[in-house]
Amino acid sequence: MSEPRKSKKTLAISLSAICLLLVGVLLYLRKVEGGLSNVFSLEYWQNHFNGLEMYRPSVSYFTRGNDQFKDVCLTFDDGPHLKGAPLILDALKKEGIHGTFFVVGIRVKEHPELVKRMIAEGNEVGNHTQDHIRLDTLPLKNVKAEIRNCEINVERATGRRVMLFRPPGMRVTHDIMLAVKGMGLTTVGWNVGAHDFIPPAAKNMTQDMIDGMNTTPNQVAERVISNVKPGVIILLHDNPVTAAALPAIIADLRKKGYGFKTVSEMLSKLPKPIKVVANPIATDRYANIGFPPPAAPVVKPAVVGTAPAVKPATK
Ligand SMILES: [Zn+2]
Repeated sequence: MSEPRKSKKTLAISLSAICLLLVGVLLYLRKVEGGLSNVFSLEYWQNHFNGLEMYRPSVSYFTRGNDQFKDVCLTFDDGPHLKGAPLILDALKKEGIHGTFFVVGIRVKEHPELVKRMIAEGNEVGNHTQDHIRLDTLPLKNVKAEIRNCEINVERATGRRVMLFRPPGMRVTHDIMLAVKGMGLTTVGWNVGAHDFIPPAAKNMTQDMIDGMNTTPNQVAERVISNVKPGVIILLHDNPVTAAALPAIIADLRKKGYGFKTVSEMLSKLPKPIKVVANPIATDRYANIGFPPPAAPVVKPAVVGTAPAVKPATK
């Protein structure tokens, strides 16, 4: 083959390979970024890289509320704790506002009555896994079990499903997010943290954990108040320090004209509204059976005549 013909053939092969690659990249982006309209939108990519996007449809990930409204969302993670949740619920009820609680399955099992109360008083309850393990350290099968087991405990406690999800420490991979979406859940991020986390054990303490242990209600309130912007999702934790900080947070933000919304209310006010019923009535096998499951009544057999003879043990 002559040199020019050879180089023409090489060029054609290279061009075909580039075209195929481009088509592949486009198909991938279309899947991951929620459609070609996003892929070709300059505004979408600006928001994406500046952390300004509110909702990522490809993985059902709610990152923040619409900043056109002066709303904030109070979220309370890691409960229900006996020392925190009742006080937080009292404070919310007194102010006539609702929060969103991301609960841990093993704690729901310990205090089902608290989760029942959360829902009964108009708050939303989300899934924060069964054991609060960092999900990116687990195989996908175990990730799904962590989510499902928490869901089972909430359903047993309340007869309601949980459609909102927040991964412990926000530690997820893209595959985990896709699996969570596949389970019908919306993942919820956060934007303002109060460093009010109280660690269960004093092993491998990070500075955040140390801050959390030594924190005062005033510090919690200050961290929230000084960082609030329209549309933010505020990360708080289910503990007494946070409960004590709530009146100051609510009073200050109200004075500045902020309203308090649950996660599903914030989702419904996005530029492209997303409709999520946070805790629909559960209709599957876990619903309404109560937790712990009622023990079967013990019926004592009536004693009639003499006890049957015991069969001698054979060797
Ligand atoms: Zn947590």
